[in-house]
Amino acid sequence: MINNESILNRLDSKINLLNLNRQELHRFLISLGAKSFSTQQIMHWIYHYYCSDFNKMLNISAKIRNQLQKNSRIFAPEFTEEKVSFDGTIKWITEINKQKIETVYIPEQKRSTLCVSSQIGCPLKCHFCATGQQGFNRNLQVFEIISQIWQANKRLQKKNINNITNIVFMGMGEPLLNLKNVVSALNIILDEFGFALSKRKITLSTSGVVPALDKLRSMIDVSLAISLHASNDVIRDLIMPINKKYNIQSILDSTLKYFRSSKANRGGVTIEYVMLNGINDANQHAEQLAVLLRKLPSKINLIPWNPFLGSSFASSNINRINIFANILRSKGFTTVIRKNRGKDIDAACGQLTGNVKNDIKNVKYS
Ligand code: SAH
Ligand code: SF4
Repeated sequence: MINNESILNRLDSKINLLNLNRQELHRFLISLGAKSFSTQQIMHWIYHYYCSDFNKMLNISAKIRNQLQKNSRIFAPEFTEEKVSFDGTIKWITEINKQKIETVYIPEQKRSTLCVSSQIGCPLKCHFCATGQQGFNRNLQVFEIISQIWQANKRLQKKNINNITNIVFMGMGEPLLNLKNVVSALNIILDEFGFALSKRKITLSTSGVVPALDKLRSMIDVSLAISLHASNDVIRDLIMPINKKYNIQSILDSTLKYFRSSKANRGGVTIEYVMLNGINDANQHAEQLAVLLRKLPSKINLIPWNPFLGSSFASSNINRINIFANILRSKGFTTVIRKNRGKDIDAACGQLTGNVKNDIKNVKYS
């Protein structure tokens, strides 16, 4: 049986290269006496060949390989469990210290998307979300975010399936509450010597932690998805406690600024709207939403609500969702009804729970 924990313990004194973006890796290698160009060579070994064995890196001098061996490791925790849905969606679980990180692979005809987690649990407690209702344990480190992609691609390659083409930060957690590590991981995902994905193919979804969203703008450009879910503050206050801190207008102002400085969002940012029966799904809410979004170039994603144990919400039925969508379309908004993939294995939006031990001590909002 895989024991990520015992491997981690052995690694304590060694630097895990999967924790370092290119700049950081470069500094580390120079400190070992390596030549400048070895940074690209090592990244190529890690992110192109998925190689974690320094002995195989024969274009690196023996002296530097020795130094690397002594001071560092390339360690990606392994998936400890796999659940496969009838629709081809796969949920991979990585268990570390009895905590579970969940990652979802969603194959489609022309692309394959990996939904990654950025935290174990989530402190924001949106009432309709299983992750939020589980509580919060901790932020993921850079290598724990990167490993989800690394292990996924390794598995796919073994099965002769193409690498992941799209990444969405829509798994467990609020990525903007783990800003530093998420941005460092994004740098590796975008890097031509890392996973080399284009900024349009990476989506960061956020419930709108405004100060962090403002910071993100100056740090990195990726596709943005905003979890709005309500057309006015009264409803949003009710279903998303974070709204009492950062209300709809402040989120939309910050999103517009991000849009204006972004190339990745040229077609508009994505607005996510979960369809909750009798709560936010009336015609008047669609009308109100259209007014709210009139100044923000955006496309709207309507998400049928996915159930989880102990929740009293219900999803709007498909008729209602279609009517809601058509109102928005009639106002000129590109509106898509999101397909629910992996529902039978609890892998759909908002169904990821991990196995969270609550630890609210470390919560910071910016
Ligand atoms: N914390 C981030 C990203 C993770 S959640 C955020 O909130 O944006 C990914 C998406 O799933 C968000 O839009 C979230 O609101 C939505 N979601 C959460 N619970 C859901 C549920 N039970 N059914 C459908 N969508 C849900
Ligand atoms: Fe956290 Fe996002 Fe779930 Fe809200 S919807 S509790 S922000 S993961």
